[in-house]
Amino acid sequence: MRDLVDQIISGNRRALAKAITLIESSHPDHQIEAQELLSKLLCFTGKSIRLGLSGIPGVGKSTLIETFGKMLTSQGLQVAVLTIDPSSKISGGSILGDKTRMEQLARDDMAFIRSSPSKGILGGVARHTRDAMMILEAAGFDVIIIETVGVGQSEVAVAEFVDMFLLLLSPGGGDELQGIKRGIMEIADLVIINKADGDFKNAAVIAAADCRNALHLMQAKSPNWTVKVLQTSALENRGIEEIWDTIQSFKEIMIKSGEFEARRQQQNISAIWSEVNTLLLDQIKGQNFDKIDALEQAVKNNKITPLEAAKELLNSVTD
Ligand code: GDP
Repeated sequence: MRDLVDQIISGNRRALAKAITLIESSHPDHQIEAQELLSKLLCFTGKSIRLGLSGIPGVGKSTLIETFGKMLTSQGLQVAVLTIDPSSKISGGSILGDKTRMEQLARDDMAFIRSSPSKGILGGVARHTRDAMMILEAAGFDVIIIETVGVGQSEVAVAEFVDMFLLLLSPGGGDELQGIKRGIMEIADLVIINKADGDFKNAAVIAAADCRNALHLMQAKSPNWTVKVLQTSALENRGIEEIWDTIQSFKEIMIKSGEFEARRQQQNISAIWSEVNTLLLDQIKGQNFDKIDALEQAVKNNKITPLEAAKELLNSVTD
């Protein structure tokens, strides 16, 4: 264990991969080891900027992360990317086709890319990602990007443990703007309209104006920060430096106002309750198969109310 801790702190890539596999394992012994490891690493964490990045498939996430990541590594910064892969539970495959994604960044010594399956319950995914982020912080990465595909609840869970949440949109997606935008825009600190090039140039200007209007009507996420809307072309490497400039000014403003640390503290407290939730569910579901079955039947047949069933299950763990 001591060895693994030392290797992680020195940034050894194999040790990092091994540690992340350990925290993702559902084996009870591994989970104990993982917690031990994390406790030892805790005092080395806290120095990275933690970014969440979300957008629907095809919007240009991997192209942008690659371009942005290469720009950062060329400035001497170490970049880690954690991708939450919503592998289809039915096919078991990866919709992100990870091997061909971010090829250049994957070969960069200053970068580390890891994809984690988003199988299992949301609380579990959030824990694994948060823990992996801690390991990467201890390893000294300056920037950590947590990428999610903006189609589910993972984004909201990720926004709960990053410093800044980036939403990637494309100018072409009219329905996307109407549909998913509203809810997720409320958690964004920066909106990026990608593919602002070629035939999409004008559409990008309109989309950016639309976004600003929509944001204007929403309640601000922070009293200290006005959400910015940028236009980029990840493919043509334009607008990428502005992303980094905006992140840095966000960080500076948030630190000055005290909100940076306050958010992190609040996030840690929220994490306790998220863990309580997950642990309780695990415990209830892990030891009451027959009872769950019977109670589900009873609720289905209107014999008892869902609340009565829930209370009975809760009693079974507190007894
Ligand atoms: P992801 O699914 O969100 O990771 O999207 P990808 O990065 O794989 O990009 C999807 C497609 O959009 C690819 O064919 C990219 O080449 C293309 N693409 C990505 N960024 C841009 C951009 O800035 N401009 C244009 N025109 N195409 C882009």
